[in-house]
Amino acid sequence: MSAEVPHSHPRYASLRLREAIVAGVEKGITSVHGLIAHGRGEALDYLIGEATQPFALEAARAGAALLLGARHPVISVNGNAAALVPAELAALGRLLPAPLEVNIFHTSAAREQAIRAELLAHGAPEVLMPTREAQLSYIESNRRFVHPEGILRADVVFVPLEDGDRCQALRRMGKEVVTVDLNPLSRTAHTASVTIVDNIARALPLMLELVAQLQQESAAARDALITAYDHHRVLRAAEARIRSGA
Ligand code: ATP
Ligand code: MG
Repeated sequence: MSAEVPHSHPRYASLRLREAIVAGVEKGITSVHGLIAHGRGEALDYLIGEATQPFALEAARAGAALLLGARHPVISVNGNAAALVPAELAALGRLLPAPLEVNIFHTSAAREQAIRAELLAHGAPEVLMPTREAQLSYIESNRRFVHPEGILRADVVFVPLEDGDRCQALRRMGKEVVTVDLNPLSRTAHTASVTIVDNIARALPLMLELVAQLQQESAAARDALITAYDHHRVLRAAEARIRSGA
């Protein structure tokens, strides 16, 4: 954090994340377009109270249960996620365990390599890269290129900050998608199997806590969380919170 922003600043947490995103751009990890996406996220985060709300906790529980029950879970990482929560993504990969896979919207081999290096530096166990050999169906963008042993084969994909098109493609291919998106109205939020409407900076530490907790529970207890999860009710609750102006 630059010296100009004192710890006591009321917007300290938000400003610290903004600086992490800017540092991500400077390190070649985050796309400049990522700054705009982050700004939209900031506005929505402001409206949900910059805190994890009950609807996010409920979704995070169901998401953790889905990942723990997966045969082949994979964690998809883009440039914003790598800039904001690299250590937490690596720790989640170790805990589940699950490989991380680099997947970005704006094509750049250099940026893909920079994201991989950043995740490995933060202790990621395995970082898969997109390949030309494996492609997702139903999608045209750069995000269709995947790893044959990673997203292509995954039954559950955890995608903090997904793109709506690819989320739809993953679902049409029969995969479960657990996402984190501050916008409960986005195509991603609606199409995913489970949507955690929260900032990834809070959702990732929470997921680590919940996965560790639910690992101690029975498969039946985890299945009960998945069954109880009501996607549309959760999204409606998040939207109501944003519109309430509370
Ligand atoms: P979609 O592709 O799902 O239709 P979109 O195209 O409107 O949505 P994108 O530009 O693809 O949105 O991605 C930006 C999204 O990421 C925004 O909805 C924003 O709220 C969300 N977002 C940005 N930063 C964060 C963050 N730190 N935590 C959680 N969500 C975030
Ligand atoms: Mg989009």
